[in-house]
Amino acid sequence: MVGVMKSREARIIAACAAAVLASGSVLAQQAVVTRDFEAEIQAALQAAKTAAGFEFLGTLVRTCLLPQSGGEDTRDGVPGYVTNPGAAPARETWYADPAKVFDNLYFVGGKVHSSWALTTSDGIILIDTIFPYNSEELIVGGLQKLGLDPRSIKYVLISHAHGDHIGGAEMLQARYGARVVMGAPDWETVAKYPNRYKTMAPKRDIVATDGMTITLGGTTVTMWLTPGHTPGTLSYTFRVLDRGTPINVAYSGGTAFNFVNDRPNPGIRNFQTYIDSQKHMAGKAAATGATVLLSNHSEFDNAVNKNRMLAGRGNGPHPYEVGAQWIQRYFEVMQGCARAAQLRLEQRLASTARR
Ligand SMILES: [Zn+2]
Repeated sequence: MVGVMKSREARIIAACAAAVLASGSVLAQQAVVTRDFEAEIQAALQAAKTAAGFEFLGTLVRTCLLPQSGGEDTRDGVPGYVTNPGAAPARETWYADPAKVFDNLYFVGGKVHSSWALTTSDGIILIDTIFPYNSEELIVGGLQKLGLDPRSIKYVLISHAHGDHIGGAEMLQARYGARVVMGAPDWETVAKYPNRYKTMAPKRDIVATDGMTITLGGTTVTMWLTPGHTPGTLSYTFRVLDRGTPINVAYSGGTAFNFVNDRPNPGIRNFQTYIDSQKHMAGKAAATGATVLLSNHSEFDNAVNKNRMLAGRGNGPHPYEVGAQWIQRYFEVMQGCARAAQLRLEQRLASTARR
């Protein structure tokens, strides 16, 4: 009798436990069903918008508003501007005057795409090289206009292997013997697509690793792996001088969502890589006390406008120096916009899972 009671009690307890588990899973399902993706997306967009303020509107527009390219480019065609230089965009669409920005940092880019010359006592570290059709006039010509010698370019750092940044690398390596630094995956992309990189492909040289430094004449640039825009995208931290005062710079090497982002797999993972990279770089910017944000597109750092403002600076603050808090806000814009886009994919995945 006692034994029967025990087994009955055991059955009742087991039944209760099953009921609790079942109701738990119903609750869990309801939690999934009732997740308010629209509210989460709006919150991410609002966070990006708030972070951007009036300082980083170009970055906000590019990453939150404009349509993104849908995926990986696997074509290997020679760009039209290489096959037929006459097809390159008209000079007035890209020409900008070179400028001395800091005591030891010069702008030698164009209206849209930037190239930067960090000068040292042992030569120049050049960051990004714009297009094949304008690197000669803007970089080589720009340095000469500024009284600098292009033959003293010792290092060329390429933030990522797209034609608007790697365009002059082959020429600068061949002509001046400059050492070229790039992320491993982007070296591989250049090797994989010989036509796409015709006239732009430097011989494989230095492969950047996270935290690697390039030092020339006592000036050091630290490289940070920030995969996302391309798998090998590099960002940098380095120090410049403003009328003798040291100022720390964070250089963001890739911005738009130039990866497979139009379907949950692998889009959700790709956005996570991108978001993690922005967090990584924001951490390095904070650790080095960066108060200046530089980029390879004027769209993101307002370089061309700020160069104009420099002329009227007088004894006022440096137009590029926005403070450490704004540098964090820059990376919050990128994270908020990426999170919103990632959430849209999560929402799509959840709705297909329910069907
Ligand atoms: Zn790019």
